[in-house]
Amino acid sequence: MTTIKATCPGCGEIDLTAEDILLRIGSQTSSNSYGFTCPDCGDFVEKPADDRIVRLLLSGGVMPMLMHIPAEALEPKQGPPIDYDDLLAFHEVLKRDDWLDELMGPHPQ
Ligand SMILES: [Zn+2]
Repeated sequence: MTTIKATCPGCGEIDLTAEDILLRIGSQTSSNSYGFTCPDCGDFVEKPADDRIVRLLLSGGVMPMLMHIPAEALEPKQGPPIDYDDLLAFHEVLKRDDWLDELMGPHPQ
């Protein structure tokens, strides 16, 4: 089994196995993190994981945990919330044959 070296703030360098490590993959690289319970002091240590660390942990057999945040939730929001009139307008558009073209907007080219 692969030994993975990690650093505990209190104990210094420690040896872990892939099962000891919790690797969280977020929707953005900056939200990736890994954590482990230090075998020496029992503290839970959590640190950000950059691309290099993620690759290292994956190659060591750590199973990633995907944190599902829908991309829509991270989009900047503009304008007022959808109301009943918007829904009605949408309903009207769907009755037409070219509703998909209407929704997709002008084609590039
Ligand atoms: Zn420790």
